[in-house]
Amino acid sequence: MRQKHDEGEAMPARMKKADLPTRTCLACGRPFAWRKKWERDWAMVKYCSERCRRSRRAAR
Ligand SMILES: [Zn+2]
Repeated sequence: MRQKHDEGEAMPARMKKADLPTRTCLACGRPFAWRKKWERDWAMVKYCSERCRRSRRAAR
């Protein structure tokens, strides 16, 4: 006898990513959010990942 019933268990709020700035990747066109590893050169970041960055260059 087990009732499936939500008892309103409080889910712990994880990271808030609402405050993070976002940008659109120039390679794949998808939005991506700020990452810790970019904190120093966020102004120069234009691609969501290293892969996109390279693929962009590779495409003549
Ligand atoms: Zn991308």
